[in-house]
This record gives sequence, structure tokens and C-alpha cells, in this order.
Amino acid sequence: MIRVCVVGAAGKMGREIVRTLAREKDFVLVGACDVQEVGQDAGVLSGVGPLGVLIQDDLERVLGGSAPQVVCDFTHAEALRKNFPVFVKHRVAMVIGTTGLTQDEIQSMRQVVESERLGCVIAPNFAIGAVLMMYFARIAAPFFQAAEIIEYHHPQKKDAPSGTALKTIEGMDSGHFLTPEGQELVAGARGGMYRGVRVHSIRLPGFVAHQEVIFGGEGQILTLRHDSLSRSSFMPGVLLALRKVCEAPQFYYGLESILGLG
Ligand code: NAD
Repeated sequence: MIRVCVVGAAGKMGREIVRTLAREKDFVLVGACDVQEVGQDAGVLSGVGPLGVLIQDDLERVLGGSAPQVVCDFTHAEALRKNFPVFVKHRVAMVIGTTGLTQDEIQSMRQVVESERLGCVIAPNFAIGAVLMMYFARIAAPFFQAAEIIEYHHPQKKDAPSGTALKTIEGMDSGHFLTPEGQELVAGARGGMYRGVRVHSIRLPGFVAHQEVIFGGEGQILTLRHDSLSRSSFMPGVLLALRKVCEAPQFYYGLESILGLG
């Protein structure tokens, strides 16, 4: 049995993870941390009934008291910045889905994980279809003159553009892209620019997590689209990462490094 502590257990993703772990035979939820719903049973909160694991807000005490093998952090970037040194201090493996960290921050986390010989998966998107979309975008990029991304999320999402949009662009060879600079009659109408790719972030009720990568070429358009229709879309990837980081502890960035997509 893999002993898991969910950090952000009262959040939308945290509750989905608690629900998912309760169905799996090789996992046991031993700890639940959040700054909301403190004292609530994490199982009751996620709709699976009492699990006997109460939500606590003191991460040190949760880790000290529950001795998990692996923590699963789906909080917010500012919380993760404080949680990460605590995870390292307790020498626990990490699966991190929290987005909003800079590349420099991810690099310094990698250095700490490697020098401490810990296990850590950081993935901006745990949906396998989204990871394949990023992979296909990487293959397509050299064959087109330009690309733009439209990403769609629920309005509570704190960061824009999404971690997935940034990671998609980082994986693409975009140095040769043409970036037409028309006059913006409304500021921001052409979206934000990252490494030569325009990115447009839509935040509307009804969306979960969706992205289109649109490539333009001579007389043709290629559109890659992925839709996460519910948070359950992330769960197979989260389970895969939890198992992998316990089996072969090292630093992994992106689910593709676990799926063997490079
Ligand atoms: P949410 O706001 O519903 O949940 C976040 C939870 O973290 C809240 O319950 C909040 O109280 C809690 N929290 C805040 N500070 C904390 C702290 N210091 N210690 C413990 N808990 C704390 O958000 P969500 O939709 O569940 O998303 C959570 C994160 O996961 C976001 O960064 C989001 O972008 C990311 N996300 C990643 C993926 C992925 O596949 N990697 C998918 C969906 C969401």
C-alpha cells in the first residue's frame, strides 16, 4: 500500500484525488492538509464517506503524524513555495500539480530534489490527452510558419496563461515563427506573447480545462484541440505519477517523461 497525503485536500482537485484514491487498492490516504474545512473528514468532504482522515492546516504536523511515502500538492503557487521545503525536510516523494511557478523556480526545485535524492513529479497537466496534444504540437511546429494558442478555463483559475499553454510553447520549436504586429485598437486584443507564440486565455463558467494549438501555413491550418470535460480526466495521470515516483524516485517534469514521450 502506498501511503499518500493530499495537500489542498479541500480544493476541487484535492477532493477528486481523495475520491480516486479511495477506489484504488494499492493506495491509502493517511493525511489531508488544507487551510479550509479544517477538522472535516476528507472522505466525507469528497463524497466517499468517512475515511478517518481529518483535514489539518499544519503541514508539519500532518507529515510528522501520518508518515506518508508521497504527498500530492494541488494548492496555489504561493502555498507550494512554502510547502516545498517542508516536503523536503520530511524526505517525502512529491507529485505536484500546482501551477503558476516560474521556470526558474522549477529549476531550483529540481536541483534540491536531485541533490537530496528525492522523488518528485511536477506536471502542469495530468490529462494524458493534453500531454499527447503537447507532443503533437512539438512534432508539428517545425513545419509551420506560425502558431497561436487559445486556452479556456473556469473563472476561478488564478494564473494566466495556463501552465499547459506555457509548457506547450516551451516544447515547440518556435524560433522561426512569424509574429505579425498589427495595431491593437483594444489593449491585449492580440493576446500575450511568449517565445514568439501569441496566447489567449479565456476564463468563463462552464469550462474545465481546454486548449487549442492553431498552426498556420501556406494555404492550410492545423488545429490540435484537447478538452478536459471533468477533473476525472486528470486522475489516471495522477495515479501513474504517484506509482512512478515511489517506484523510481527521481525528478520528472511533465507527465511525458513518465509516459516515455521524451
Ligand atoms: P482550488 O482553489 O479549488 O483548491 C486549492 C486548495 O488549496 C484550496 O482548498 C485551498 O484552501 C488550498 N490551500 C491554499 N493554501 C494552502 C496551504 N498553504 N496549505 C494547504 N492547502 C492550501 O484549486 P484547484 O482547481 O483544485 O487547483 C489547484 C491547483 O492545481 C491550481 O494551481 C491549478 O492550476 C492546478 N491544477 C493542475 C492540474 C494539473 O493537471 N496539473 C489540473 C487542474 C488544476
